[in-house]
Amino acid sequence: MADWLIVNAELVNEGRRFPADLRVRGQRIEQIGQGLAARAGEQVFDASGLWLLPGMIDDHVHFREPGYTAKGDIASESRAAVAGGVTSFIDMPNTKPAALTEALLEDKFAIASLSSLANYAFYFGASNDNLDAIRALDPRRIPGVKVFLCESTGNLFVSDPATLEGVFRDSPVTVLVHAEDSRIIHANLDRAKAEYGDDIPMRLHPEIRSREACLESTKWAVETARRHGTRLHVLHVSTADEVALFAPGPIAGKRITAETCVHFLRYTDSDYATLGGKIKCNPAIKAAADRDGLGRALADTRIDILATDHAPHLESEKAHPYTSCPSGIPLIQFALQSALEQVLDGKLTLERVVEAYAHAPATLFAIEGRGFLREGHFADLALVDPGSPQTVRRHDIVSKCGWSPFEGDTFRASIAATFVNGNLVARNGKLADAPPGMRLAFDR
Ligand SMILES: [Zn+2]
Repeated sequence: MADWLIVNAELVNEGRRFPADLRVRGQRIEQIGQGLAARAGEQVFDASGLWLLPGMIDDHVHFREPGYTAKGDIASESRAAVAGGVTSFIDMPNTKPAALTEALLEDKFAIASLSSLANYAFYFGASNDNLDAIRALDPRRIPGVKVFLCESTGNLFVSDPATLEGVFRDSPVTVLVHAEDSRIIHANLDRAKAEYGDDIPMRLHPEIRSREACLESTKWAVETARRHGTRLHVLHVSTADEVALFAPGPIAGKRITAETCVHFLRYTDSDYATLGGKIKCNPAIKAAADRDGLGRALADTRIDILATDHAPHLESEKAHPYTSCPSGIPLIQFALQSALEQVLDGKLTLERVVEAYAHAPATLFAIEGRGFLREGHFADLALVDPGSPQTVRRHDIVSKCGWSPFEGDTFRASIAATFVNGNLVARNGKLADAPPGMRLAFDR
């Protein structure tokens, strides 16, 4: 592999922004400085006009393998990630079979070790009957356990109250929750079916998977975590109401953290009219006031982490009527660009996007050697061109499903290059052959 000297970049890291050069030797960052001279054998990457960021770490993706590989697989979706400046991902357990045993989870690591272009880890899934396996998880190898507090794609709903209490009380790894209240959702859905039969308008999705359903369930999760001292991470917060349940401050000392997703910062309920089932996801995209409140909470650190909940489905499935249209959106390839629109609109700082999408997940899970631009860390890098707009076209899409809610949209910044473990794996949207990414390790 080549060693690289990246010169003339504007480096953005740990709340600072400054002109710098960065030397990559093997898999690691060897040196960060100014006026660095190229050594014999080094390739020079001229990053004039580009922002140099740590590669993003997406702590919430559904890459669909094993079991749903018509929608996406680890090879295809990790390529989409890398094309978008995301160099590490953590994938959810609602595959087929679901990752409910240590052996099934290790099968996913084995697939990724051969086919993932990005660095990878996988969450364990909670069910009504695998509490003993959760108690035995090794926090240095497994990032967390995902708990569905309601039905969603893949049916991993933990409905038994004693098991839920047990997971919150005993899990040796971070507990991640999908928090929506099933009872409320069922009552809302029954009402909509009575009124509309099989022809429920897509715009009713945020009334069926309602803000009350989110708020009730998130309240329960936060209270239960407080009672047990659980390390809780609340996934995909979708309402401004829930924000009051979380405290601002640095992520390092927190026992309870929250995540929101790029689509909640971009879309509102008015977008169902044009995008319909394409933006159906759980929890639902809600009102403009939620979008704005979530943006403010991400800016002021009450929400700690930005992620995608990347969840591809076939375009044909997304054209189904409401009740059979699957929930989930393919996002990862354009997620950083979508977040940077918030920066260019003055709603978030660039430093805060880097913190929420790279530093914070690294800190939450104590990921070894990643998420920051530091000498000695792995050279996982994203180079962004803020002066090169990109209009999303179908032929640009790397995700296996082949469609994007962003088609036709123009992003003002584009991804100029991505490095994973010191390898240049994407440049101006073109992917290069590179060795597979590495398994994430957790220093805790
Ligand atoms: Zn998800």
